[in-house]
Amino acid sequence: MKRFISLFLVILLFITGCGRRTSSASIDNAVDDNYRNYYEIFVYSFCDSDGDGTGDLKGVESKLDYIAELGCNGIWLMPVMPSPTYHKYDVKDYKEIDPVYGSVEDFDSLISKAHEKHINIIIDMVINHTSSEHPWFKEATDYLKGLSAGEEPDSAACKYVDYYHFSKEQLDNTWYQILGSEYYYEGSFWSEMPDLNLADEELRADLEDAAKFWIDKGVDGFRMDAPLHYEEADTAFNTDVLKWFYEYCKGLDPDFYMVNEVWASEQTIEDYYVSGNPSMFDFSFAQAEGDIIKAARGKEKASKFTEKLLEYEEARRAVNPDYINAPFITNHDMPRVANALNGKTDDMKMAAALLLSMPGSPFVYYGEEIGMSSKGTKDENKRLPMMWSASDTSGMCKGPADADKDVVQKCEPVDSQIADPNSLYNVYKKGLSIRNEHPEIARGTGELIELPEAGDRDIAMIKRTWNGKAIYVLYNFEEEDVSIDLNYKSIATMSVSGAEATGGSIPARSVVYMEE
Ligand code: CA
Repeated sequence: MKRFISLFLVILLFITGCGRRTSSASIDNAVDDNYRNYYEIFVYSFCDSDGDGTGDLKGVESKLDYIAELGCNGIWLMPVMPSPTYHKYDVKDYKEIDPVYGSVEDFDSLISKAHEKHINIIIDMVINHTSSEHPWFKEATDYLKGLSAGEEPDSAACKYVDYYHFSKEQLDNTWYQILGSEYYYEGSFWSEMPDLNLADEELRADLEDAAKFWIDKGVDGFRMDAPLHYEEADTAFNTDVLKWFYEYCKGLDPDFYMVNEVWASEQTIEDYYVSGNPSMFDFSFAQAEGDIIKAARGKEKASKFTEKLLEYEEARRAVNPDYINAPFITNHDMPRVANALNGKTDDMKMAAALLLSMPGSPFVYYGEEIGMSSKGTKDENKRLPMMWSASDTSGMCKGPADADKDVVQKCEPVDSQIADPNSLYNVYKKGLSIRNEHPEIARGTGELIELPEAGDRDIAMIKRTWNGKAIYVLYNFEEEDVSIDLNYKSIATMSVSGAEATGGSIPARSVVYMEE
């Protein structure tokens, strides 16, 4: 009888094992929590469904299978609310979809189709400022213009005068005069982005109402834009705003997620974890100067990379024990990875391997998985159309009107990279799939493992333990294969050459996942 049961178990394991391998689009086996593999989408440049040249929500919906195949189970949509700008980081209605992107019905459909595929959707929530075309701002400025000489503003007559920062003095050069009145308003980013006064209770009630609108639609989280600027250099105030907003959202949906753009030093990022919010983007490891790109260029040792990883983890966890790191290489505000790495595919593969080895929820900026380029520092050039195919123009977007027209994408488009087993796309796909198969990589508590066998070679190892299970992450930054006798056996390899680790041999420039 015992033998019969064992045989039955072997067959069962064989069947489930095969099932997992053949259904690459399914990520049903991933743990259903807020640790996700995110894909950041600029809707405008991603996929156009109706041939007007501008990406839209139906276009995003048509690419859900692409995103799931890649191995992502979360999407961050850059702003989708109505706005006068192409980037939409200045909202004029917090409870609508920009008509260029589609309708609220399109959004509902996208959410339900994404959830069917176990993909969470988070959206950009921009509350540092509104558009100067927001009715709140228009009513407030109309009211101020209508005041007679010597008459003080009264929020009982117009509550919107408290929604923004108004003054009779131009406090600095980020304050702009309201034409036809003696008042100025603060617009710290731009004259057409008046700063909101987030201390005002009535404004907070309106923002709660907006949050509720999207949470009722099934949105799984918000990416909070610019909390560092709610009040300049006022961490106590800003973290209090984040705490209030997060707790309100959690009250409506206990699984609600929030990730914050605190583009600042590591110390400031750690300070913002006081807000109790789960995630701050890991700016320390991102951008051309960050540790991922430095290491991918061969300018940082494996020992340094792992040491910093563990040091930051410990410091952040000390402030918020439930923190979820949010690593990324670049986003829509930065020159792309391909530019930072001079178009070297091997270096981009290494950058991908490093990003996807990090704890938390990694964010992949659309096009990064095929090595798309940007140009210079102009924002529009960092948000160019997704390269789906060289032969099939369906879904192709025209991109931002002010982008330079002479940017040549040197990378192969999506369709040819899918077909090429050695492509950058397939490296991303493999790394994301490894994360889905081994939940300890994202969730495990890290611990440095000394490797005396490594000698002075550029190798380091982190053990990640979660739920009683451990995975060992070996970083080999050497330019050549390394022969080393370790007491661990490899279970998955991310290497620049595509070679797998075998007993005693670790491929050059690789991240190898091992077990005891
Ligand atoms: Ca369109």
